[in-house]
Amino acid sequence: MTQIQEPYMDSVTDDKLFKYKFLAYHDALTNLPNRLYFDSYLQQLMNECKNEQQKFALLYIDLDRFKQINDSLGHKYGDQVLKEATKRLGSCKEEAHFLARVGGDEFICIVPKVGTRSEAEEIASAFIDALAKPFCLNEIECYLSASIGISFYPFDGDDADMLVTYADSAMYRAKNQGKGCYQLANVEKNAGAYETLMFEQELRKAVKQEDFLLHYQPKVDVLKQKVVGFEALIRWEHQQFGMISPQHFIPIAEETGLIIPIGTWVLKEACRQHMEWRHAYQQDFSVAVNISSNQFLEKDFVDQVFKILAEIGMPPNLLELEITESILIQHSELIIQKINQLRTHGIQISMDDFGTGFSSLNYLKKLPVDTLKIDRSFIQDLETSEHSSAIVKAITMLAQYLNINVVAEGVETIGQLEKLKEPKCNQIQGYYYSKPLIATEALRWLQTFK
Ligand code: C2E
Ligand code: CA
Ligand code: CA
Repeated sequence: MTQIQEPYMDSVTDDKLFKYKFLAYHDALTNLPNRLYFDSYLQQLMNECKNEQQKFALLYIDLDRFKQINDSLGHKYGDQVLKEATKRLGSCKEEAHFLARVGGDEFICIVPKVGTRSEAEEIASAFIDALAKPFCLNEIECYLSASIGISFYPFDGDDADMLVTYADSAMYRAKNQGKGCYQLANVEKNAGAYETLMFEQELRKAVKQEDFLLHYQPKVDVLKQKVVGFEALIRWEHQQFGMISPQHFIPIAEETGLIIPIGTWVLKEACRQHMEWRHAYQQDFSVAVNISSNQFLEKDFVDQVFKILAEIGMPPNLLELEITESILIQHSELIIQKINQLRTHGIQISMDDFGTGFSSLNYLKKLPVDTLKIDRSFIQDLETSEHSSAIVKAITMLAQYLNINVVAEGVETIGQLEKLKEPKCNQIQGYYYSKPLIATEALRWLQTFK
């Protein structure tokens, strides 16, 4: 294979011009070839390979969770991460491989003369391992991962756009499979990626048209025989496909950033509904809203919550925000600061799905939350599993010791309810009392609850 011409080297006559041309084809932050250089390289490589019947692999690399770090810690830290990621990718690749930065947190590595598919897969695994190690940003330790899509020339396409597009959608498949892994483009089997794309377009439309609806599930204090609040749970009402569960669309909303407008809509709607109920039912009870990590990490999240409460005229102590443990993975002081800011204004914070994440007892000590919601998986087999029963007891005792409320999620039977009496887990949510209901039914349920 002849040497590929560097695009900034042609017809340079003096040093200054060379410098300008170099800058035009490189990314200033990482010094890597940029998109322009990449396009030129890919085109030349394809011409070469056509003539010499050579193969190559294209690895589309996207950093997972980069946006969160950039948004929460600022661009200075974001830049540091990108530089360090470049160093790590560089140390895994061979000299003949071509690495470019083609977008904010997107890189492409081309492996010329690739022998077998597994050769490209090994390189992808090395990249993933290298990026999974913690990033130390001054005092803060952050964890990232990378999702990679791989396409092969000429099997997956013989034009540049096609190869990049297929590697890109394989990368999205890797993200949907839980991130931190790679997927092959495998064009014949690629129909799934197309569906995901259609789904995303539909979701964008739904956000514009606000095709969503909230259901509300009550939370009951069994000792006081009192309804303490409702949790708002979103549904997507699709004209053609009917009601779509949040478990299906929230992950895509998170991946595409659509969770931000969706989350804002949920907050506003739940607060508005709550105020409407309070006029009809004179007693105090709270409304809980699920907040995804990306939403919580938005710079102006706290201000936005206060603004919504003020606009609606809702007392802050009646709003509860449910967050999950994943938000704490970054151990960021910033998260704790945000939680404190919300709590000083009276907003309640719950830790959702407790017990399923890393549940470190250490962070519970410094974590300023009001409530732990024990995950449904422990409640489900409470009657049959000693193990679950022990975990529920331990969580409840610990929470009582730390002066934190406990809620058991997903209580369906009287047997489970009985089992929760002994550890004095008094707040209950689940089908035993009620499934999530539409607003009018929820109010009726509230008025007839005894
Ligand atoms: P979650 O916050 O853990 O909500 C509880 C889920 O368990 C709800 O499912 C609820 O319908 C279901 N559930 C409650 N009691 C029982 C029971 O006794 N038995 C069984 N089998 N299931 C029960 P749903 O509504 O499908 O929501 C699923 C998840 O989607 C939620 O889990 C939450 O993580 C997410 N989600 C829902 N609404 C929103 C939202 O507005 N924003 C965000 N970011 N996430 C949401
Ligand atoms: Ca929840
Ligand atoms: Ca939960």
